[in-house]
Amino acid sequence: MTESKQARLQRHRLQMTLLTVVNSLLQSVVIGLFAASGATTWPLAAAFAVASLVTTGLFALAVARGWVLRLGDARLLHAQLAVNFVVQIAFLIAIPTLWIVFLASTLITCSYAMVALTPRQFTWLWLAYGLATGLALFAGRERFGTPAPTAFNIAILWLFFFMGVRRLAVTGAQFSRLREQLSEKNRQLTVLLERNQAMATHDELTGAFNRRHLMGALADERERARRSDAAFSLAIFDLDWFKAINDGHGHAGGDAVLKAFCDLARAELRANDLFARYGGEEFVLLMPATPTPEAARSVVERVRHAVAAHDWRTVLGGQARGVTVSAGVAMWRSDESPETVLARADAALYDAKHRGRNRSVIAASVADDQLAPA
Ligand code: GH3
Ligand code: MG
Ligand code: MG
Repeated sequence: MTESKQARLQRHRLQMTLLTVVNSLLQSVVIGLFAASGATTWPLAAAFAVASLVTTGLFALAVARGWVLRLGDARLLHAQLAVNFVVQIAFLIAIPTLWIVFLASTLITCSYAMVALTPRQFTWLWLAYGLATGLALFAGRERFGTPAPTAFNIAILWLFFFMGVRRLAVTGAQFSRLREQLSEKNRQLTVLLERNQAMATHDELTGAFNRRHLMGALADERERARRSDAAFSLAIFDLDWFKAINDGHGHAGGDAVLKAFCDLARAELRANDLFARYGGEEFVLLMPATPTPEAARSVVERVRHAVAAHDWRTVLGGQARGVTVSAGVAMWRSDESPETVLARADAALYDAKHRGRNRSVIAASVADDQLAPA
């Protein structure tokens, strides 16, 4: 746990504890007003003020001094709740004309517990509360009364409930703060998850899909082609004389060419085409449902032309040379494995390089090593 988080927790702990002192003070004022109206006696009102202020004050002091840190927050809250209940119930019996005021106070105490307790703890609290108040009410039943319904007494009662609802609002505000924090955390998590997903499937430099994603998509596409009889095609691109680009413009220049090449290629693709970085400066274009090599080659040629026609001075600066790309195109044949169709495309690429580069070549329909010797 970081230092600042601990400090924040301690501040919150202290705030909540000081709030109980304020609540005690307000309730003591209410009981004092009832003493002034004659609904109870001054000594009893003073006794309540002392009991509730001393107990909540001691907790506040203990929290401020850090004496209760070892107790843990849950136990601290349990102790505060227990002491508060004991005080309220004791005075419910001691001041039978104001029993309704003390009973209502316990409700507000419970609302604080709602935020911090687990459902199980809250159930125990509820049962203990039921037992304690039940016994107290039963014990005091013959002495209970109400303050005389004078305007003054009604006003104090109103004030008490009015302030009580305000205290409930504090709990409500805590709940909504928690809810806000939770949805903010959720939002952050979604962003992280999306970033993670993008990192797992994309190449960092070019933004193209990565090789792992390509191999998965290729396996899926092969299954789909098997079921539907709609063959797919693919092409392997390899930038021409790329070592020379690196040598002439540095690795950063080479990287810029790779990025620009991907942008140019993506602009020429169709909606379902998948473009992935296969290796250093080699890329694979997977073309689903493209059942003729000529159709596949026309997409590849669009890319090749776009690259050859591009003004590479915008990427590499004034003295830049032209950049070209070669490609091998292969159409999937029934039952061929992804590796085999890639190998045929690679052989066609090799052929394109040998024939002078800046061109695309359609692969033979079977791998070279399966061709019968001439
Ligand atoms: P060819 O026309 O025969 O393809 O010639 P070439 O120079 O392109 O030869 P080759 O394909 O073997 O060269 C690949 C080079 O690409 C070698 C390597 O240094 C470079 N390379 C690989 N990955 C990266 C990269 O991420 N960034 C940069 N700048 N260069 C890379
Ligand atoms: Mg290469
Ligand atoms: Mg190359």
